Amino acid sequence: MAATVATRMLIIGAGPAGYTAAVYGARAALAPTLIQGLQPGGQLTITTEVENWPGDSSVLGPDLMARMEAQARHLGVELIDDLATRVDLSQRPFRVERDSGPPMTADALIIATGAQARWLGLESETRLRAGGVSACATCDGFFYRGRTVAVVGGGNSAVEEALFLTNFATRVHLIHRRDTLRADATNQARLFANPKINVHWNRTVAEVLGEGAPPAVTGVRLASTVGEAEMVLPVDGLFVAIGHDPATALFRGQLAMDADGYLRTAPDSTATSVAGVFAAGDVKDRQFRQAVTAAGMGCMAALEAERWLAGHGAAAGEGQAAGEGEAQPALAVAAQ
Ligand code: NAP
Repeated sequence: MAATVATRMLIIGAGPAGYTAAVYGARAALAPTLIQGLQPGGQLTITTEVENWPGDSSVLGPDLMARMEAQARHLGVELIDDLATRVDLSQRPFRVERDSGPPMTADALIIATGAQARWLGLESETRLRAGGVSACATCDGFFYRGRTVAVVGGGNSAVEEALFLTNFATRVHLIHRRDTLRADATNQARLFANPKINVHWNRTVAEVLGEGAPPAVTGVRLASTVGEAEMVLPVDGLFVAIGHDPATALFRGQLAMDADGYLRTAPDSTATSVAGVFAAGDVKDRQFRQAVTAAGMGCMAALEAERWLAGHGAAAGEGQAAGEGEAQPALAVAAQ
């Protein structure tokens, strides 16, 4: 059996929350280890320009994340390119199994696993994912130079993807299930001012149409949410931008979550329902979901973990059932 690697502070997730927690943990001399997963940098690696990160008028998302990683590395954070596959939070130290490396233990654990793109759930959408259905305009928009595409959704992501796609496509259709957008006023103004974009209100995608071998998208069949007739829109690509799901499957049954799977934390705190386990960023935040708020929560988590570790030496916690004799303002709710 592979030897277990013991850590004082273990962080899972390499977005703004995880890297910030790592930076604060390193500066507190806690020698943090960060399991980066398969997509280091998180959601910001699939965006283009970020104009609301403090101190940068405009910065490319992937560049910002590369800088965060470099800062963590510079401070001595151990960065591990691997996936956490199983966690056991019932005993301290906590135990984390990995896809390819030996298992690890952690005296304090910070969860910063973020959230992932949501899909419509249509059979045709799944079948055509390799043939013109995408959840990332930044990654795939380039392929639609001179073509026609559709974007589904009415939030900031959908509007920004539609605007971004106008750099390549000659026509962009935005399909939204209601008659008002959720996106902020600035994005809406940009959208409505762009002559390449048509908005289709009160419409949902009933089917993605595709043919050929391998099949490629040729159009979308749109249903109406207000009783109008179905229509077919000829498009070469479909971008789904309807929100995200928190990456919390690993913690189901062990940590308290809300009905949508977001981790629950104590008020004004990153403390989860298990003492010594903290959560930061989109994995626990359905409201703000910004890089800067995620980074702020990463800072909070590291400071709270540091404080918690100061009161619970590794030796004192050894073999103890998690939650016994706690001073942490742990969330007093059962895991779902
Ligand atoms: P979101 O704000 O949750 O919007 C999701 C959109 O998809 C909504 O318009 C929703 O419709 C629609 N939708 C959901 N499920 C659907 C389905 N099954 N079929 C059709 N439409 C569906 O998600 P987001 O746009 O990804 O943004 C997430 C968060 O990040 C937000 O807080 C957003 O403000 C933030 N964000 C900010 C920026 C920025 O500041 N630059 C950029 C991107 C994202 P309804 O409106 O009818 O619910």
